[in-house]
Amino acid sequence: MYSLVINCGSSSLKFSLINVETNAVLLSGVAEALATDKANFSLSYQGKKYNEPLTAKDHADALAVMFHYLTTFNLAEKISAIGHRVVHGAEHFSNSVLITDDVIQAIKKCIPIAPLHNPANLIGIEEAMKITPHLPHIAVFDTAFHQTMPETAYLYGLPLEFYKNHSIRRYGFHGTSHQYVTEASARFLGKKKDSLNLITAHLGNGVSITAVKEGISIDTSMGFTPLEGVIMGTRSGSIDPALLTYLHHELGYTVDEIDTLLNKKSGLLGISGLSNDCRELEKAHQQGERKATLALELFVYRIAKTIASYLVPLGRLDALVFTAGIGENSIFIREKIIHQLNFMQYKLDKKANQTYVQGKSGVIARSGNFGVVLVIPTDEEGLIAQEANRLMPSL
Ligand code: ADP
Repeated sequence: MYSLVINCGSSSLKFSLINVETNAVLLSGVAEALATDKANFSLSYQGKKYNEPLTAKDHADALAVMFHYLTTFNLAEKISAIGHRVVHGAEHFSNSVLITDDVIQAIKKCIPIAPLHNPANLIGIEEAMKITPHLPHIAVFDTAFHQTMPETAYLYGLPLEFYKNHSIRRYGFHGTSHQYVTEASARFLGKKKDSLNLITAHLGNGVSITAVKEGISIDTSMGFTPLEGVIMGTRSGSIDPALLTYLHHELGYTVDEIDTLLNKKSGLLGISGLSNDCRELEKAHQQGERKATLALELFVYRIAKTIASYLVPLGRLDALVFTAGIGENSIFIREKIIHQLNFMQYKLDKKANQTYVQGKSGVIARSGNFGVVLVIPTDEEGLIAQEANRLMPSL
């Protein structure tokens, strides 16, 4: 049984064909720079790479080329379900769903609060459904896992009608990743998911941290959009909201300029003035670049502070879990965060910290009162493939 996973962004299409029994990726690829002259399609299958420019340059073209390759390799008939990543499900979806006309309408209703992502996700769904109307299509939402947050965690301190009339609240993102590492941590620890209290730290270019109580999300650092929370690769994370009016009135920034500043020019990149890439900054820090050191120090401090704050709703902690590009690979950042959390008295196993990188799972620290620190590689595509398989209607 194979699930095809489709992740349609505003200028890209990522896809992978996954064996749901073994979780192995059989084929994967990406179409990039869509809607530009440089639109390009590439795919890997059985150790070979295939590459071609796209003539019509749009998502429909990219999907048609993808299905053409799948048919050429005799893989199209092996697909039993298609899982689509959808960024925003708002309060309509607290689980993955089989896509129907009503589901498409509900995803459309979320467009005003996810104008960059949901339209692209919908193009992927509608075009793929046109090409394969005989297959079940399943939507898996980045926000769904966080729908269990209580009001105290998801409401902003705004007049309540902004929530009631305009759906303004905290939603949280990276839900598939937090859900995947929650389940994988339970498997790793040999415990039932609903017996575990975890703090899952997804540290990639985007960063979000989630408090998981008895297997469900009860708070997370991203909010109405992925901009809230700790500082990230190019995003500022939370700032004093009064800065927005200050930037506009005093410094003459337009609304669009503020949006670009906070989303694309801030965070590790903005502070270091060098890069948003953690590897580059670690190198620059070793070479004595003060701004790189400062950016990494801020990053570590804000992450540790958020982690510590989640002890309030959790009370008891079984594991702190690191995942995503930095969480899975940066020996340096993991050690610094554990050091910053010294009140939790973790004993870092330096050798284990060096060992568990590049896709390996393991325990890197232990504490008498706060459980273990785990490294668990995330697998968002794998989770989407499993969800598509789980929700496939039985014949
Ligand atoms: P995205 O949010 O784009 O999916 P990823 O989860 O791929 O991001 O994470 C990208 C980040 O992971 C980058 O900052 C990159 O520098 C960092 N990273 C990857 N490998 C390492 C490593 N070996 N050491 C430190 N950082 C790493």
